[in-house]
Amino acid sequence: MRTRILFSENLDDGFLEALTGEMPFEKEAVAIKLHMGEPRNKNHLKPEEVKMFVDVLKKMGCKPFLFDTTVTYHGRRNSVEGYLEVAALNGFTEASMGCPIVIGDEEHEVVKGMLKYRVAKKLCNVSVLVLTHVKGHPCSSIGAAIKNLGMGAMTKKTKSDIHEGGKPVYVGGCELCGACVENCPVGVMKLDEDEKRPRLSMAECWGCSNCTMVCPREALKPRVAAFDILLAEAAKAAVSKFRRVYFVNFLKRMTRLCDCADEPLEPVIADIGILAGGDILAVEKATYDLIVKREGRDVFKELNKKSFREQLKAAEEVFTQ
Ligand code: SF4
Ligand code: SF4
Repeated sequence: MRTRILFSENLDDGFLEALTGEMPFEKEAVAIKLHMGEPRNKNHLKPEEVKMFVDVLKKMGCKPFLFDTTVTYHGRRNSVEGYLEVAALNGFTEASMGCPIVIGDEEHEVVKGMLKYRVAKKLCNVSVLVLTHVKGHPCSSIGAAIKNLGMGAMTKKTKSDIHEGGKPVYVGGCELCGACVENCPVGVMKLDEDEKRPRLSMAECWGCSNCTMVCPREALKPRVAAFDILLAEAAKAAVSKFRRVYFVNFLKRMTRLCDCADEPLEPVIADIGILAGGDILAVEKATYDLIVKREGRDVFKELNKKSFREQLKAAEEVFTQ
């Protein structure tokens, strides 16, 4: 496993040159797995940033293509055609990028772990550059490379199964301490004082599992397993289908919510730079450590009520099994 981490404040020639020597790709097809944004979200990766990676890969003799999957929620990115329209609106076209733009929702099933993970077929048996815009997310605190693969490389069915599998089940023993209510990032948990138990609207719950983690009485359990475990298992299932893989995390334009939020959010912290490496755990840990070091606090825990440490712990457990 290549654990060397590269860092640069800017996407300059020196950094791109260093990446050329680090990325493990041979003269082969390379999927650039990324999120191409929503129409009103302007913090996603910019076409001009992504184009630099397309050009570097071409210089290495590779055949790059941009890739993402359709989403489960209502909106234009719910279908292949709709996503291609949004991508074009945000500047990602074959003409502007100099490579194909592929949106997939066909699956290759990997039966491994707590769920059946359905990996996007177009990512199977090719090499993948996981190009991730780092930002906050209510379910995992920070959405970075694990999320880009654990959710973004899965088909709709698995995306939905992960959110459903992380939802809480009440198993008894509530003492009305209120911790689950205080730590629900989407504010759907309530207390039923008469019945002495928590209540929530399952339709509005995002399945982040935070309430199950903070309950001191273990009165709540996830339906299948904690969201962080399911997401990490899905990311591992995806990586298991790739030929070669390399990770680049952009710590810029970091907002509280992810790039699926179709609104013009303001960044919540100053830009940091770009991290790259061949080991997903090392790149994700360096991402978290840099954010905490630069801000002097776990800013996304404050904003999303959950620390990315939970995701790192789960990923370490899953990836080292
Ligand atoms: S799983 Fe998350 S979103 Fe759902 S009730 Fe618990 S804390 Fe709230
Ligand atoms: S955290 Fe647990 S004990 Fe506290 S109110 Fe929620 S369910 Fe009850």
